[in-house]
Amino acid sequence: METAEIQRRFLKFFESNGHTVVPSAPLPAFEDPNLLFVPAGMVPFVPYFLGQATPEWNRATSVQKCIRTPDIDEVGKTSRHGTFFQMNGNFSFGDYFKEQAIRFAWDLTTGSLESGGLGLDGDRIWATVYLDDDEAIDIWHKQIGLPLDRIVRRGQADNMWSMGIPGPCGPCSELYYDRGPDYGPEGGPEVDEDRYLEFWNLVFMQNIRGGGPAKEGYEVTGDLPKKNIDTGMGMERMAALLQGVDNMYETDQVRPIIDKASELTGKRYGVSTSHTASESHPDDIRFRVIGDHVRSSLMLIGDGVVPSNEGRGYVLRRLMRRAIRAVRLLGYDKPAMPELLPVAMERMSAAYPELRTDFERISSYAYGEEEAFLKTLKHGTTILDTAVTETKAEGGATLSGSKAFELHDTYGFPIDLTLEMAEEQGLSVDQDGFRELMAEQRRRAKADAAARKTGHADLSAYWKLLQEQGPTDWKAYESLATESRVIGILSEGESVAVAKAGQIVEVVLDRTPFYAESGGQHADAGKIVGPNFFGEVVDVQRPVKKLVVHQVRVLEGELVLDDRVEATVDAEWRLGARQAHSGTHVVHAALREVLGPTALQSGSFNRPGYLRLDFSWRAKLSDETRSEIEEVSNKAVRDDLPVAVKYMTLPEAKDFGAVALFGETYDETVRVVEIGGPWSRELCGGTHVSHSAQIGPLVLTGESSVGSGQRRVEAATGMEAYRYLARERDLVSQIAEEIGAQRGDVLERVRAILQRSKDAERELATLQAKAVSGRAAEFAAAAQQVEGVKVAAIRAPEGTKGGDVRNLATQIRGHLPEGEPGVAAVVATAGGKASIVVAVNGAAKARNVSAQALVKAALSGKGGGNDEIAQGGGVPADQAQHLLDAVVRAITA
Ligand code: ATP
Ligand code: MG
Repeated sequence: METAEIQRRFLKFFESNGHTVVPSAPLPAFEDPNLLFVPAGMVPFVPYFLGQATPEWNRATSVQKCIRTPDIDEVGKTSRHGTFFQMNGNFSFGDYFKEQAIRFAWDLTTGSLESGGLGLDGDRIWATVYLDDDEAIDIWHKQIGLPLDRIVRRGQADNMWSMGIPGPCGPCSELYYDRGPDYGPEGGPEVDEDRYLEFWNLVFMQNIRGGGPAKEGYEVTGDLPKKNIDTGMGMERMAALLQGVDNMYETDQVRPIIDKASELTGKRYGVSTSHTASESHPDDIRFRVIGDHVRSSLMLIGDGVVPSNEGRGYVLRRLMRRAIRAVRLLGYDKPAMPELLPVAMERMSAAYPELRTDFERISSYAYGEEEAFLKTLKHGTTILDTAVTETKAEGGATLSGSKAFELHDTYGFPIDLTLEMAEEQGLSVDQDGFRELMAEQRRRAKADAAARKTGHADLSAYWKLLQEQGPTDWKAYESLATESRVIGILSEGESVAVAKAGQIVEVVLDRTPFYAESGGQHADAGKIVGPNFFGEVVDVQRPVKKLVVHQVRVLEGELVLDDRVEATVDAEWRLGARQAHSGTHVVHAALREVLGPTALQSGSFNRPGYLRLDFSWRAKLSDETRSEIEEVSNKAVRDDLPVAVKYMTLPEAKDFGAVALFGETYDETVRVVEIGGPWSRELCGGTHVSHSAQIGPLVLTGESSVGSGQRRVEAATGMEAYRYLARERDLVSQIAEEIGAQRGDVLERVRAILQRSKDAERELATLQAKAVSGRAAEFAAAAQQVEGVKVAAIRAPEGTKGGDVRNLATQIRGHLPEGEPGVAAVVATAGGKASIVVAVNGAAKARNVSAQALVKAALSGKGGGNDEIAQGGGVPADQAQHLLDAVVRAITA
């Protein structure tokens, strides 16, 4: 049975049992600051389970895309761990409980194929339950008929579910399928988790847990008022069972990638005959890593993640690099992504059609990343080789942790690669030292994240407010001032009743005109004024959906809970914000008009007077392209296009051609902002001008690279654009005045001045050379007698250049008496270094005085030339006199 069919049957089964089908949330966990990615089907429903929000339904079902980074090291080595997988779930919010949940799972898994079930053999199913959950045992045994010897009691670590922190928890029951003696020893899941494959976990959320260790050893402190059900069936594991293959990498969604890799590398997949993944040949594991990681990369980029050196982007980068490296270890060293990624897309697009329509963008990131990594590999390999040679030269047998870290951090060289390559050259690696440095870096990253304003990990105070007071009545689209009531004051995450002058607190109002930072638009600025209070709004965020939180600096008086206040947005600020945000849409549309539709925005930021926009594009924009984008943008302003706002459903918006951006989660009804009809259509919640002419001038002020395959344009808008141009004009005026030219002639004059300055420098150099050589006779006359040789050993004037030193030496030699042995040695210093030229005449040469030998004597063996003239240098300038002395000594000897 194909994976797509399992998905269809699962959703149909639960839909016909009263569950609402909820689409998968995107892989990045946008709503939860504690998570990078969604690791389980229940994550999008967490606020409902915690009672922080009320769902519209009490039964739901979903197929959720998941990423589990902690499982990365298991990939290919067990039969059942993918970094990406799909979790099919059914959820009950205070509706049905244990009995019904077990019944549903059993009926669907063992139900016949004709009746819409999955047709597994019930006699091979085992169930685990929590130690004292006799209720579950009874249901399994008495109602389902599972024999007691296939029901296993397990402890807290395995069969008590919680989120690792105080909150809801509950016993769970896991379903295992016995794949038979070929897969391992008998004895149930406790003996062998490969033979007995876990495919479904049923969580009975009924208790409350206290603090303590995350997984095991915490206390269960009470019962939940409403009991919930959360289940997760691994779609890939079910597919492996139903397709009769050994592991999840051989199922219909992944295996074709492996086959393609096998074709490319000419290596066979399936070298070992054992069914057990852990006994596999290393090549087989590499193939599975490729299959898994290529698919995960596709899904991640599909959901808007782009390769980078931190956070989500780093996870993606790591997956891609591991896959690419595995391909190379299998013996293929050309770019592999262009061969493998399309295979993954073909398999996955049946369930996720956007992967096909968006493939040009997705693949451009993937291919770009591979190209970059192949370069890194080349470069990093040289660095590693040098480090290995150095270590060996010093007699060491261990590559230092800091070198391994540097390779990792600076060159993106994965540690396993360093380990392997060092080992090939007979060295081990100080892994402890490496890990220590990594941990330190991670601590730093964590501290950074905590310092970010949205990194406030504990959202419970906000959820509580939302629940008690309801959503903020949000008037940002209609007005700049509201009469409001203070319904919450928070100081460092805690509710307080009063805020006093000097404090910065978070203020929640029942109604507000303030725009909270989102969609790239900076928060509004303004003030809140009460009967005995004056405060400045310094930031506005929406930490949980529908709740606007103002960060307020109390300037005068005190703010008391329940106060009536006036909340006023700074009108000038807002006008600037509207100009900048509409300007961002205009620049985006202009980019796509000039560069084509793949120049898709991947991030943006705007505040009054300024905007920046990141987009996928590989090459630097030429000056002409920049000008063209600027011109198209300003024409759109001149044409005074109408700006319209429309509300529709997400599918309608997509049909309508609206550009949806990543990093945003969209509600069922979305807001589309149009500029000039179809010219620019984007899903956007921002505040905008009503006609494009109100944006005012738009000036591109910068274009730069922000990571692989990503460029950034920056622009000034409105008055700021005017000021930018005015500053440039003033600059030209000042230059013109300075050089005494008309404005129109400035460029020509500057060029002429530069030319004159160059000519003058050249002339000066010639004069200096002449002056130096003019003294050649003088230098020759001052030569001293050394062992019957006339030696002119002199210091050239500071700054004499290489060629001139040589000329000087030969000229001095020319002035030494002919027929008498003579040597000219000239030392020059420049740039902190000293160099020497030695010239020897015929008579000296006849007495076996060699220029080359003299230079070598002075420079301990270095230097080059012949018997008549030789030179060398590179020693510190303070050695200059020593060089001359050494030459004289050498002649004496
Ligand atoms: P395991 O112990 O095998 O790692 P788990 O206990 O971590 O599994 P759960 O957290 O209970 O799994 O997740 C529910 C279901 O999701 C599992 O029963 C399994 O079918 C599936 N699943 C979990 N992790 C993965 C993974 N890395 N790859 C594929 N499927 C998975
Ligand atoms: Mg697990």
